[in-house]
Formats: sequence, structure tokens, C-alpha cells
Amino acid sequence: MNIPLSSPDITHSEIQVLVDVLKSARLSLGPRLQEFEEKLAAYIGAKYAVAVNSGTSGLHLAIKSLGIGHEDAVITTPFSFIASANCMLYEKALPVFVDIDPKTFNIDPEKVRDYLAENCSRDPKTGLPVDKRTGRFIRAILPVHVFGLPCAMKDILEIAGEYNLYVIEDACESIGAEYHGKKVGIIGDIGVFAFYPNKQITTGEGGMILTNNENIALLCKSLRNQGRDNYGGWLAHERLGYNYRMSDINCALGSSQLDRIGEILEKREKVAARYNRQLKDLVAIPGTFRGLKRSWFVYVVCLPDNCSMETRDAVLAELTKKGIGCNNYFPPIHLQPFYRKELHYREGDFSITEKVSRRTIALPFHNNLKKDEIQYVADSLRELLQGSGSKVKGLDLAAAVAPGCI
Ligand SMILES: *Cc1c(COP(=O)(O)O)cnc(C)c1O
Repeated sequence: MNIPLSSPDITHSEIQVLVDVLKSARLSLGPRLQEFEEKLAAYIGAKYAVAVNSGTSGLHLAIKSLGIGHEDAVITTPFSFIASANCMLYEKALPVFVDIDPKTFNIDPEKVRDYLAENCSRDPKTGLPVDKRTGRFIRAILPVHVFGLPCAMKDILEIAGEYNLYVIEDACESIGAEYHGKKVGIIGDIGVFAFYPNKQITTGEGGMILTNNENIALLCKSLRNQGRDNYGGWLAHERLGYNYRMSDINCALGSSQLDRIGEILEKREKVAARYNRQLKDLVAIPGTFRGLKRSWFVYVVCLPDNCSMETRDAVLAELTKKGIGCNNYFPPIHLQPFYRKELHYREGDFSITEKVSRRTIALPFHNNLKKDEIQYVADSLRELLQGSGSKVKGLDLAAAVAPGCI
């Protein structure tokens, strides 16, 4: 068998929609842009939505539109995709990493509190927290709803209120997820979604910025479009901008995918539930938490407690040999070569992230994964971990069944 790690789900009618756009001669800044933005804003319950050409572009404009720059820093998680920390560096702001909650894999609000109380003083003029070591103003918290599970937003908003910080939600993995009945992406000041082909809905490449603040929305619209103001002419550039536009072709695909999002999220939930049933006695499966509705992005399990990185890699190599797409989600951001070299992070800096990262693997996951494919993946993993001729040694399975990792 050959089972990819992820696979987009594009219907015939969606292909037809794309053909219609191609015949329309309005390939960019046309009607499909506005349609997709309005539809997504309505789905999330946000006043404004600004489409951009990737989730990363969206995060960059979120940072830029809040005026966060070279004197500033933003609190975020090291257990994420690299874009959630790179977006600050584009503006010469620094990420301040805070370790995660080992049960949810999301940023731990208690540790955010500890960092602000112990490592920051208050600037007498602005009242903002200032990192005692770097002298930088802390301007925002950027929580990531990792693997589609909402962060502890009540605590995060409370802390942000106390210290006068913005909240930027990296909701790139979590479209449709709910925090106590409220959709993620519009709980903070700005939220960003992404539509790369492995996300819940795709536009090929693309992203969307959500906000209830008109000024932020207008600024983001200008920045994505070469700094044009929203009323001036094509060759009037108010500010330094970018070409971060999403074409009408991509918007039309996104819009049609969004029409099916209920069905898509349901399909993903069913695939995850089937995996859970097959694997719950073998590895730690993703947990459920009261008041949180996960939007299934990837299916990530935790190998047993005493798993080393070598063992994890051996499991991945053996699964790959059997034609099963898999990967270690996520390698910690602070241990990426660029972050080690330029920002001087090393092993041990964020021990929970590192411990979780050593043990987590993503298994094949997409809308149309079949029963027998799930069975094959589960059987292969079982054979590897428990089989008598197993090539993967030294795992203590007793520690493996609690939801969450540690
Ligand atoms: C996918 C993703 C992004 C954005 O990725 P793009 O490829 O730029 O669309 C940002 N943050 C997280 C956590 C993601 O998973």
C-alpha cells in the first residue's frame, strides 16, 4: 500500500468553478476575492477578512499592522510550524518562547504569567512589560491552536488585558475549531488561517486575516497590495507594501471548499475516531477537553514515555518502508538550525516541548482515508511496537495509554 501523509479533497464541481474563473478574464482582484472574504468572515463571525497568498504572509501582516518592530518582542510557542515565529523576525521583532502544556501541546498560560512576572519590568511611560535581559517591549501574545485544538484563550486574554498586549491567533491549523462555543480566529485582536493543500480546506496556496478592527483590516488590505491605499489609483503607493494578493482562481477554490466545510470537518472527525479506536491501547492518542471542539488538522500520536529520538526515527523509517506517509510533528522551532545559530537556543531550553517532540508522530490523515488504510496503518504500528520480530526496541508500553504525552 501507498498511503500519503495528507491529500487534498477537490470535487468535480470545484474543478468546474476554476474553469469558469479562467474563462472570466478576472483572474485577480475580481469578484471571487470579495466573495471568499465575505463568506469566511460570516462563517467565523468576524467583521473583516483579508485574503492573502499564504498563512505566513497573513502572520507577517498581522505583526506589521500592529506596528510591532525592532524594539519589540512577542510571546509564542516553540512547538509549532516555523512560520509562527518567523513572522516576527521579518519585522526585526523577537519571539519569546514559552513552553507548552504537555496535555494539550499548546502554550501554557501559567508559564506566560511566570515569564511576565519574573523576567519583565514595567515601562514607566507605556506600562508595557519590558524583558529585563533584552530590553525589548513585550507587545503581543501569539498563541497557536496546535493540531486544531484551541488554546486556553480565557487565560491568554486575561493576561493580555492585564499587561496591555495584543493577541494574534495563529489559527492556521484550526479552521472551524471552537473554544467554549466561539470559533477560533476571532477571539483575539487578529486571527490568521492558512490554505496550503494539507490544511482542512485548501486554495493551493493562501491565507486569510480575520479581525473586527476596521483600521487593521484596511492596513492589511493596503500592505498586501503594494502599499496602495484603498481609494487611490493603481500607481499611488502610500506605504511600503508587498504583493501578498490571493488570485481569484485561488479564492474561487477556497470559496467552494468553504461551502463544504461542515462535511469536510465531519469526515475528518470520523477518520480520527476510527484511528482512536484502533490505537488507544497502543499509543497515547489525542486527548479531548471539556469546552474545546477540535478541528482535525493532522492525526498525531505519542510514542511511549521512554522513547528516544532514535527510536522515534526508527518507527518513522519502518512505517515509511511500508508505504505509510508519516513525519515527526513538530521538531521544536528553537532547535532549528537558523534559531540555534542566530538566536543561540540549545537543547534543554524548553524541556516539555523537546520531550513531546521526541515522541510525537503524524500518521496519514485526510478526508477520504479508507477503513482498510487506517487498519493497515494501525496494524503496521502495532507490529512495530509489539511484534515479536520488531525492529524497534526498548519501548515501555505501560506508559503509553494516557491521553496527552507526559
Ligand atoms: C500551515 C501553517 C502556517 C502557514 O503556512 P503557509 O504554508 O504559509 O500557508 C502557519 N502556522 C502554522 C502553525 C501552520 O500550521
